Amino acid sequence: MILAEQPSPAGERPEIQQIREAVRALCARFPGAYWRELDRARAYPKEFVAALTEAGMLSVLIPEEYGGSGLGLVAAAAILEEVQKSGGNGAACHAQMYIMGTILRHGSEAQKRQWLPGIALGALRLQAFGVTEPSAGTDTTAIRTTAVRDGERYIVNGQKVWTSRAEHSDLLLLLARTTPRDQVAKRTEGLSVFVVDMREAVGHGLTIRPIRTMLNHATTEVFFDNLAVPAANLIGVEGKGFRYILDGMNAERILIAAECVGDARWFLTRASDYARERVVFGRPIGQNQGIQFPIARSYIETEAAALMMQRAASLFEAGQPCGAEANMAKLLAADASWKAADMCLQTHGGFGFAEDYDIERKFRETRLYQVAPISTNLILGYVAEHVLGLPRSY
Ligand SMILES: Cc1cc2nc3c(=O)[nH]c(=O)nc-3n(C[C@H](O)[C@H](O)[C@H](O)COP(=O)(O)OP(=O)(O)OC[C@H]3O[C@@H](n4cnc5c(N)ncnc54)[C@H](O)[C@@H]3O)c2cc1C
Repeated sequence: MILAEQPSPAGERPEIQQIREAVRALCARFPGAYWRELDRARAYPKEFVAALTEAGMLSVLIPEEYGGSGLGLVAAAAILEEVQKSGGNGAACHAQMYIMGTILRHGSEAQKRQWLPGIALGALRLQAFGVTEPSAGTDTTAIRTTAVRDGERYIVNGQKVWTSRAEHSDLLLLLARTTPRDQVAKRTEGLSVFVVDMREAVGHGLTIRPIRTMLNHATTEVFFDNLAVPAANLIGVEGKGFRYILDGMNAERILIAAECVGDARWFLTRASDYARERVVFGRPIGQNQGIQFPIARSYIETEAAALMMQRAASLFEAGQPCGAEANMAKLLAADASWKAADMCLQTHGGFGFAEDYDIERKFRETRLYQVAPISTNLILGYVAEHVLGLPRSY
């Protein structure tokens, strides 16, 4: 059986299979040449994002009462997996799916009514997430951006880095310190979450500067200089924001795992096809065990990662605890996609380096997931501490 004909996962609900077919048909309109051109220019895939939005694919996590389809995380994972499997890159818009979860879970009814229907339609883009700072790194509680209450507003000062898609988003979900770290009992306290309307803020205390990276990711650094944010844009209770951000991370990790599984499947299809067709020394290179075993191993690792991802997604959808599974899925899938990328490049020999094959582009894109949105070491630290009961290492 050739990989392109792989059936959907056993037991998958018919509506999820239909979604996969719809995403495949949509992605067929955006071939490798489309992504290559954007990559060269470091340009944003606005036509692709518009098509996904119009097809309702980015609102599957928003309940029907707020204008979404409420299909849930298994559907969202299937959509992103199919996008990556087609050779595209959902990173341009995946956050539109899940950042709103913080508003959905912790916002007031008025805030949900204010923002979620527009986000569901795509008329309002909430796909920027400002947590990481240059000096704090992974130690989120050490962030220095402050929000100080001043009557009916907060005044924000500081800087974020790696705030992706800020130039292509209307709203920004911002984590800032509202009580200094030395005045709280626990360092996780005193942090708060705000929705910043960047349409009003740019030029009035908010500056966005793009960062050019090894991949086309529309990432930026963002500067706050006495930016006024209405107090009405505070999400939940002041000082409890760290918990709200953590709550959103399981969904993000599962969806990134789904993207990595999709990437791995794309690399596997490309490698298998090439290994069957490329003839050297009078026979297909895929007849050599030195070529076929790495492909077979990569397939096995990808299937194992997909199972963990599906388990995590099902637990999340059932409202069950899934922190361990979400983290393990992210690590296994990011490792599977990165190893598949390396295997695919090796299988193609010199041609793997040619831009027209798309392999070097996907190789660069999938490398990100060893580092972001959470690095592999921090996942190992989570499992060591929270699953195995080992002493906290950081
Ligand atoms: C392209 C891109 C897009 C991004 N988009 C966003 C975004 O939209 N919003 C956002 O908020 N952030 C974003 N990020 C930031 C990303 O989440 C961080 O880069 C990532 O979490 C790692 O943090 P850091 O870069 O500060 O690394 P650091 O925290 O400085 O860590 C550097 C290295 O040291 C390791 N390390 C650190 N501490 C320990 C420890 N205790 N034990 C073992 N190893 C350790 C890490 O694993 C890592 O390999 C993005 C990053 C990139 C590159």
